[in-house]
Amino acid sequence: MRKEAVGGERAAGAAGRQEREIFVKMDSQVLDCTICFEPLRPPIYQCEVGHAVCYVCRGKLCNTCPICCRGIGFSRCFALEHVVDTVKVPCANANYGCKQFIIYYQKEKHEKTCLHAPCFCPEDGCSFKGSTGSLLDHFVIEHKWSPTNFHYNEAQRISIPRHCRFTLLVGEEDQSMFLVVNTLIHMGNALTTISIRPHESSGSCYSSRISAVHCAESDKGRYVFQMDPHVGSSSLHDGAQLGSFFLLVPPELVDESTDGLTINIRIDKIKCVVHH
Ligand SMILES: [Zn+2]
Ligand SMILES: [Zn+2]
Ligand SMILES: [Zn+2]
Ligand SMILES: [Zn+2]
Repeated sequence: MRKEAVGGERAAGAAGRQEREIFVKMDSQVLDCTICFEPLRPPIYQCEVGHAVCYVCRGKLCNTCPICCRGIGFSRCFALEHVVDTVKVPCANANYGCKQFIIYYQKEKHEKTCLHAPCFCPEDGCSFKGSTGSLLDHFVIEHKWSPTNFHYNEAQRISIPRHCRFTLLVGEEDQSMFLVVNTLIHMGNALTTISIRPHESSGSCYSSRISAVHCAESDKGRYVFQMDPHVGSSSLHDGAQLGSFFLLVPPELVDESTDGLTINIRIDKIKCVVHH
């Protein structure tokens, strides 16, 4: 009997590690530096009575613990290092579809680039936020937008009603969403392109070329053109703003028969350096 039990335990062995995972509820303060309150990461130091401090704070402290005022110095706290290396917490974007559990002290870093972080609906009075996939569904179902699918590196002709603020473009290859924002200003219509994504720094970079053409036969050849070498990206958390690059379409180029703008837009994926 006894032998069997031992054998069984061994069989579970390293492979059975997963089964040893337990769910705990705890005060996260235990995992934070007692001085700066940042999550502790190795190397971790402790004073004589166990006040845990991060290596940054320890460097500033000489040998006296400011919590208990004992001046005996600090030693490494390997036990707590093991703990912080294994404690995992759910991502803040779990509700938006992120299934990851992240080492507690890496949580902030993960969430800065988590692709499930929400994007926001730019329509006035709408408070919807969700992953890019659910935002696309929301645009179509709730606001009856009809997105235009497009290929990168190819010009696409689209018509925009003069008073329509948003036109949604969706990349065929990667389902990335681009919003053409149409703002009425006193000189005409200002058009700007925004890449909708949760973080500035994640994913590809794009350039766009946009031109407005006059449809009337008598006025052929008149057009305005603008290239945006680096399309701005936004989660739209503060709405859709007119970017620094926009195409100004003068009123003469509005097609009077349809009260709309006819534009050619081309979006290219470009190589870019990601700044963190
Ligand atoms: Zn600290
Ligand atoms: Zn202390
Ligand atoms: Zn996440
Ligand atoms: Zn909405």
